[in-house]
Amino acid sequence: MSKSIKYKEAIAARFGTLSKRHKFVLLSLFLFTCAIFIWKPTHSLQSTSSVSNRNEVSLSSENLQTLADQNSEPVGTIFDPNDPEFNAPKDELDEQLAAKDILHSHTVASGETLGAIFNQYALPMSDMYSLLEVNKSAANMRVGVDLEWQQDEDGKLTELKIHRNIKDTDVYAWAGDKYSFTQQQEEGEIKPVFLSGRVTSNFYNSARSAGLTPGQIQTLAKQLQWKFDFGKEARKGDKFAVEVDKEFIDGKAVSSGEVKAVLYENAGREITLVKHTDDHYYDVQGRSLNRALERYPTHQRFRISSPFDPYRKHPITGRISPHNGTDFAAPVGTSVYATGDGVVVRALHHPLAGNYVIIKHGREYMTRYLHLSKILVKKGQKVSMGDKIALSGNTGRSTGPHLHYELIKNGRAVNSMKVPLPQASPVKESERAHFKQQAKLTIDALRDQV
Ligand SMILES: [Zn+2]
Repeated sequence: MSKSIKYKEAIAARFGTLSKRHKFVLLSLFLFTCAIFIWKPTHSLQSTSSVSNRNEVSLSSENLQTLADQNSEPVGTIFDPNDPEFNAPKDELDEQLAAKDILHSHTVASGETLGAIFNQYALPMSDMYSLLEVNKSAANMRVGVDLEWQQDEDGKLTELKIHRNIKDTDVYAWAGDKYSFTQQQEEGEIKPVFLSGRVTSNFYNSARSAGLTPGQIQTLAKQLQWKFDFGKEARKGDKFAVEVDKEFIDGKAVSSGEVKAVLYENAGREITLVKHTDDHYYDVQGRSLNRALERYPTHQRFRISSPFDPYRKHPITGRISPHNGTDFAAPVGTSVYATGDGVVVRALHHPLAGNYVIIKHGREYMTRYLHLSKILVKKGQKVSMGDKIALSGNTGRSTGPHLHYELIKNGRAVNSMKVPLPQASPVKESERAHFKQQAKLTIDALRDQV
């Protein structure tokens, strides 16, 4: 009960923070809506179905805010985010890495609260309250704290790790009816362990036989996603060696360890990955392995007519009807640009989404552009950041010209306006010479293993 009260308070608080202009619009819409419900047509209407149940409907002020979503999809239009038509086709590696194995992570930025982080990643609020019931300290978020979590297929938070500092980690794990809470302290000795192998059937199986965990394989695939596609490019006969830093206590490994460095040989080509002291991965030359993503898909900044809101309520049914993207009030014909390098995986028409484009960026990210008037790319086409891919429009289920833009990270829609986006900076110049020297030694040691 208290949860729903908190939720209502939160909505009331949000209403209170709206600008005067927004409040005015809300009030006008409220009056207008009332007028529609009070008005009884004297002539028979062609389509009476929409007003036939007017006596059963009650509108309360708390769900009014959703009525202000102009130039959006009609509230209640639910794009099933798991609809295969809205997703990049799964390759073999995607199938092998089950949803529950995917590790999500976030580093707390200045001013971020636990609630804001849950909202950004559309994590269930009910899970947050359950965490807080077990231990209130879950709400203590400080800049730089690393969070790691896993979710099941339904999105439920199954494990949350809060790395308070290098030694202490708070672990919340779902135990069926509530979360268990444990504090872990790192005390062991870190030693490098070398794992190596040769691809026989596919990379995943070979890496597993070599002793890598699904999490480590995921780290590899994710870090090298822009350089090498393990799902598509790995070939029989490829060789690999991985240095994993494992923690030992009394000679026994107490952790599966962190990937420190990788050497992968694919048809005479060497692919390298080395972890730096800043916790980021680079190639042996100290170059970033990331490709950056831009925040906005248009050059001009348009008003956001409807923000990302995983908890948006339908004004009439009161049911949660998530808005998985950000709507920009862009006039029809506005140029739309790819926010990052990638491959066009869909360029089609859909009754709800209208003309839409989906771009897959590496393994982790995908972007969707909906309600377009004109599509300028084809399925399978490679695009670079800033390439013009479409003109915005008002096609599909839409209440006015706008561009609906979605960012999907690890298969889940996230707030594209808020989440940290991948950066592509190299090792700091002051540290580069030292890094290159160390990285060369590390990779040479790996070369002895393959
Ligand atoms: Zn939208």
